[in-house]
Amino acid sequence: MDDTAPPAPSRLALAAREALEEGGLLASSIEAFAPRSAQQALSAAVAEAFQSRGTLIAEAGTGTGKTFAYLVPALLSGMKTIVSTGTRALQDQLYHRDLPRVRDALGVGLKTALLKGRANYLCHHRMHLAKGEPRFHSREMAAQFQRIVAWAGRTRMGDLAEVEGLGEDSPLVPMVTSTTDNCLGSECPFFSECFVVQARQRAQSADLVVVNHHLLLADLALKQEGFGEILPGAQAFVVDEAHQLPDLASQFFGEALSARPLVELARDAVAECKEVPSALASLQEPARELEQATRALRSAMDDLPVRGTRQRASELDASEAALEALAQALAGMQAALEPLESAAPGFEACLFRAKDHAARLRRWRDLEGGEPPDDAPVPADPDDRAPPPLPDDVDSVRWYELSARGFRLSRTPLDVAGPLAEHRERSRAAWVFTSATLAIGGQFDHYARKLGLQAPRTLLAPSPFDWPGQALCYLPKGLPEPASRDYSAALLDAVRPVLEASAGRAFLLFASHRALREVAALLRAADVPWPLFVQGEAPRGLLLERFRASGNGVLLGAASFREGVDVAGDALSVVVIDKLPFGAPDDPVFEARLESIRRSGGNPFRDEQLPQAVIALKQGAGRLIRSERDRGVLVLCDPRLVGKSYGRVFLDSLPPLPRSRDIDDVRGFFGGECRPVVPAPTGEDLF
Ligand code: SF4
Repeated sequence: MDDTAPPAPSRLALAAREALEEGGLLASSIEAFAPRSAQQALSAAVAEAFQSRGTLIAEAGTGTGKTFAYLVPALLSGMKTIVSTGTRALQDQLYHRDLPRVRDALGVGLKTALLKGRANYLCHHRMHLAKGEPRFHSREMAAQFQRIVAWAGRTRMGDLAEVEGLGEDSPLVPMVTSTTDNCLGSECPFFSECFVVQARQRAQSADLVVVNHHLLLADLALKQEGFGEILPGAQAFVVDEAHQLPDLASQFFGEALSARPLVELARDAVAECKEVPSALASLQEPARELEQATRALRSAMDDLPVRGTRQRASELDASEAALEALAQALAGMQAALEPLESAAPGFEACLFRAKDHAARLRRWRDLEGGEPPDDAPVPADPDDRAPPPLPDDVDSVRWYELSARGFRLSRTPLDVAGPLAEHRERSRAAWVFTSATLAIGGQFDHYARKLGLQAPRTLLAPSPFDWPGQALCYLPKGLPEPASRDYSAALLDAVRPVLEASAGRAFLLFASHRALREVAALLRAADVPWPLFVQGEAPRGLLLERFRASGNGVLLGAASFREGVDVAGDALSVVVIDKLPFGAPDDPVFEARLESIRRSGGNPFRDEQLPQAVIALKQGAGRLIRSERDRGVLVLCDPRLVGKSYGRVFLDSLPPLPRSRDIDDVRGFFGGECRPVVPAPTGEDLF
């Protein structure tokens, strides 16, 4: 615990503790609520940060109950609070499940609101344009669209999460939602019934608003240039899953141009002709050329690696020629739209988009004339403008990324500590950053530096689980160097006895997709008796559902399975980590960041690579024990954990698991009815 906490707790801290104690308000009204001392300490620290308008970084180990720990002081304080979560699913869970329970238990009648990004709300204008469009690829898609139209007539919130069976990545979503580019704002004929405007109005009048990091950062990125606020001026911010913030902030403080908005611009310009049919004659050809130039650029980049720097792309003549052709197609679109600007608000918005895309493209190519257009149409919310371009003097990397049919050309700042700190200071609010994975070996220096925090107040709230009783960390002996050719086969030899002891029920988490595919092939060739669920062979949600239902499955996943996956109970009893998850060498942003640290005299391994890998390992290990009743074995295969001096930093950052290098301890663990049979409580002497 931090010893800088003030000696006399504030009234808010005392009240928060009291509410969470044995016999307190939460215990008396929430079934199965179990008071936990780490939760009370966290809640008191959050209360102190609120009270003093200070900043707190708090790591809350799995099972601490951090959501209740911050909601209690937030609701008791009466301060205008923004709570930000990592994903929309977590946002929904917090708003619909946790928040009402805590609010009812405390008996406070505060107003709360859920605010998502505009892509989550039905846009009447876009839906109107899509009616009668021949864009539906299948009968099912047309039927789903009709269901959306019917739902639009009865929904109160307009949140697309209410539409059953509509996936986040459905091609219908961009057809019935708006972007800052295509929203008509106050010129919109549907403005008075607009769900985006209504959601923001509700947020502005609420005491506690639940947002997600994307929305929070979009707001910060705008505020950086003094455009004002989408979110209401808050007195306190709580950032949950805060380990995600620095990397996400780089995206938001940077800028990008991708294939989809270019194609959408071409299609939207044609769709707008519904209002002014005579415009079709002059727009059809430039729109076709823009779509074609976008596709041609993607094809021209086929010979490049999936990710690379601007420099790498410029080495390919075909991609340079395609970039120039795209610039010309955008200029053609702009020329065709200019005379139509006043014919309909939709054309004005399209013209702005054409100019904006052209300017982004010029900046990415590092050509003159990359200034943003200054005649943006008035958006639905006066503060809702596209973020300003990244200033030229910011240390940034220009890079590209390819997907199956698209591309993204990005300019990303290498350090976001400055802008984040600037915003925080200007807000004059309390800031709480919390997550299960923020500390490296019990220290917060790395995270604090990334956020631009000088000597923040910190707290380590340990997981209340009985780690020696519930878990074991097994480090197999005799594995070769992770870079060696036979590593996957050796890994499987080491892991198979564990899977036999546990009867499957395992996650195998890989640092690379290549290793994942190799081990999947080896497992299949060995005709193992457990059903295999392999990332990439089915959607993530479906894989997890089948894994849970199987009762003896083995799931093979890469980085995306390290986070946000919650499988409590017997279905998951083993987590295997193949290698220490150091950042991918082909990630241009990561590489550029390391180079920037080197240039400024730092040590890239110590200052960036090691801390980043420790957090990733903690995330993966955190999948194992999710409740007081879970039991399981964490298998850490990488021999560098015991062979290299830095291995200890990883081990010291994990919860207090007993460690063993003996497979018989694993067998004993799964053979024991109630308690594991583990010889050494800490395993210190094993290395
Ligand atoms: S104001 Fe914008 S988001 Fe709202 S209905 Fe109109 S176009 Fe759609």
